[in-house]
Amino acid sequence: MNNGSCSAAAAELGERLLDVYQRLYAFYGPQHWWPGDTPFEVIIGAILTQSAAWVNVEKAINNLKAAGALTPTALRAISLEELASLVYPSGYYRAKARKVKAFVQYLGERYSDSLDALFQGEVASLRRELLSVYGIGEETADSILLYAGGKPVFVVDAYTRRIMSRLGLSPPQDTYAHYQAMFHDNLPPDPGLFNEYHALLVQHGKTRCHRRDPLSGGCPLRDMCLYAARLIAPRGPSSG
Ligand code: SF4
Repeated sequence: MNNGSCSAAAAELGERLLDVYQRLYAFYGPQHWWPGDTPFEVIIGAILTQSAAWVNVEKAINNLKAAGALTPTALRAISLEELASLVYPSGYYRAKARKVKAFVQYLGERYSDSLDALFQGEVASLRRELLSVYGIGEETADSILLYAGGKPVFVVDAYTRRIMSRLGLSPPQDTYAHYQAMFHDNLPPDPGLFNEYHALLVQHGKTRCHRRDPLSGGCPLRDMCLYAARLIAPRGPSSG
């Protein structure tokens, strides 16, 4: 492909990605993410929501609030056992208590508990830093950067991969980095767009584009969907 056809293909991909977004937005409306009163609460929620339904994360967050423990200082002071019991509703509670402890330890040591100072950093180096904290993987780091820090970072999850692959919009390799690059390279770097787009994909994956037996009748993406047209085979259990 020469440079001209490369940029035409990129422009077309950008248009298709925006088309998906606009259809989902028109269908589902604004999603008002992330549910959380403060950026710090958003971060703790991003850690607790790993492998957990949001309704259970809310219970854990409410426990932390009721115990007066939803501050970096209080989370460092509380014992690991007590923290584990407070976050119990979110599942994997011992591991999550350790992860929350690791984050507040890092925030205190490195930024004196200032999220303003944390988010002043350059995005790529801040992302690397977050990934070096125990318990923070790519999806969590990017959720923190986007939803707590307002950075133009696209969050990729199993819903993103499933829906995009069904639409025939998979990147060349099925990795987190390749999916993220597809959005970063073909959409404007707009945190508001990335915020709403990810939330809409989650909504679509949860309510309609199920792993098995998706509700394709009436789907706003149906006419562009290879899966619904039976042009691609269903993916296996790893598709999330
Ligand atoms: S048509 Fe069906 S498989 Fe395709 S995106 Fe919609 S719900 Fe998912």
